[in-house]
Amino acid sequence: MNDALLKPEEQVLSTLRGDGTRRWLKPKLSRGTFLFWRRVVAYFLILLFTALPFIKIAGKPAILLDIPARRFTIFGYTFLPTDTLFLALFMVGVVLTIFLITALFGRVWCGWACPQTVYMEFLFRPIERFFDGTSGRGGEPRKERPPWLKALKYPFYILACFYLANTFLAYFVGVETLMQWVQQSPLKHPVPFLIMGFVTVAMMLDFGFFREQVCIIMCPYGRFQSVLLDKASLIVSYDSARGEPRGKLKKKGGELPVLGDCIDCGNCVTTCPTGIDIRQGLQMECIGCTQCIDACNTVMAKLNRPPDLIRYSNQMRDQGASTSLFRPRVVLYPLLLLMIASMFGYLMLNKLTFNATLLRPRGNPFTLVEENQVVRNMIQVKLVNRTENEMAFKLSVIEPTGATLSVKEPEVKLSSEEMATFNLEILAPRSVFRAGRSPLKIKAENESGEAMILKMDLAGPFN
Ligand code: SF4
Ligand code: SF4
Repeated sequence: MNDALLKPEEQVLSTLRGDGTRRWLKPKLSRGTFLFWRRVVAYFLILLFTALPFIKIAGKPAILLDIPARRFTIFGYTFLPTDTLFLALFMVGVVLTIFLITALFGRVWCGWACPQTVYMEFLFRPIERFFDGTSGRGGEPRKERPPWLKALKYPFYILACFYLANTFLAYFVGVETLMQWVQQSPLKHPVPFLIMGFVTVAMMLDFGFFREQVCIIMCPYGRFQSVLLDKASLIVSYDSARGEPRGKLKKKGGELPVLGDCIDCGNCVTTCPTGIDIRQGLQMECIGCTQCIDACNTVMAKLNRPPDLIRYSNQMRDQGASTSLFRPRVVLYPLLLLMIASMFGYLMLNKLTFNATLLRPRGNPFTLVEENQVVRNMIQVKLVNRTENEMAFKLSVIEPTGATLSVKEPEVKLSSEEMATFNLEILAPRSVFRAGRSPLKIKAENESGEAMILKMDLAGPFN
C-alpha cells in the first residue's frame, strides 16, 4: 500500500494525529490576570449552578424543568403546557440574546461561563493536575508520576460526577424529590437510581474522555460561530503585525536577528485546552478561554516587552480598520428583542388567571335524539387554574340559541395550578344547523368574574 496516499494533506482537527488516533491534550496552566478573573467567575458560577434549584422565588424553585408534566418554572414563573406562546417567545428571546452577546463579545460564554468549560477547567483539570502532575515545556509532564497515583484521580472524578449528576437532576425533579431519592434505598426507587447512575456515567465520559471534543465537535453553538460572529466581534487574536517574523532568541554570528516580538516559545500552544495555535488566526476551535493571552503576557513580561501580543481584539482592528458599535446585526437583534419583550409583556399583562380550551374527542361527531329533532354533540373542555389557590368555574352556552349544556358537575373546581379535562354534552335544536354545522360559543367564568368565550363549530345534519 502506498503510504503517501494515506497521509492527510492538512491537519483536520487539532486533536487528531495524522494516523487518525486521538491527540490527548494536557494543557499547561498559565497564570495571569485573566486566569484570576476566570477563576473568580467560575467558582461563583459553580456555587450559583448548585444553589439555583434550592433558591425559591415566590415559594417556587428559581429553575425547575419538569419535563413529564411539561411545566417549566423559570425565575419563579411557571410555564404550563398551555403556555406554548409564552414559552416560544421566551425561548426566541433567549436565542436572540445569545446571538447579540456573541455578535458583541464573541465566545465569551464558551470561555467564561459555559458549564462544560467551568467544570472541566476549574474542577476536573485541577484534580487531574494534582494527581498526574503539572505540565512543563511542550505540555509534557514535569516528572512522570507512578500509575497508582495517577489512578487515584478516578475516585475523585466519580465523586465530582456524582455531585454534578445530583445538581443536574435537581433542575429536572426539584430538590425535594432528589432528597427523597438520595435518602431512600435504590431498591425502593430503581428508576431514579438508574437515571442518577446514567447521568453520573455520562458526566464521567464527558469530563474524563470526551473533554474538548464536546466543544470542538459536539456543541452546536461552537459550530454556528462562523455565522454568529462578524468582523467586529470580540475575539482572542494574535497581533501578527507585531509578532512576525517570529523566531527564537538566538544570536547568529554574535548578533541577535531582527525579528518580531514572538519568540516562538510555543507557550500559547501548549496552554491551549483545544490544542490550537492562535497564531494561525481565528479558528472554530478557539473557545476564547484567554489562556494563551496569559501565557504570552508572562513571556513578554520576562522579555521586558509590552504585553498583549495575544489579546482581545477583533478582525477589523487586526486589519487596521476602525470598528463601529452600530453594525446591522447589533442594531437588528436588540430591535427584535424589544419586539419580543413587548409582545411578552403585553400577553403577560392581559393574561387571565385561568385558561380554557374546547376539544373534540374522537368518535361519532353527533347523534340525533328526541325523534331526530335535537342534535347531541359530545365535546371536552380543558381548564387550567394558573393561580396558587383553588378556583371554581361556571360554564354556560351563549350560542346557538336554544342549546343547553349538561355537565356532570355544574360547578367545576380546580386546585392550585391544576389542569383537568371535562366532558360536556351539548344539546342543540336541529333547526340551528346549516350545511352540517352551527357555531358554538361557551362562556367559562371563574369565581372572580374573569371570563373567556370559547368557540367551536357544532357538528350536525345538513337539514
Ligand atoms: S506565547 Fe507569545 S511569544 Fe510564545 S509563541 Fe506564543 S505568541 Fe509567540
Ligand atoms: S487559542 Fe487561546 S483563547 Fe483560544 S482556546 Fe486556545 S488558549 Fe483559549
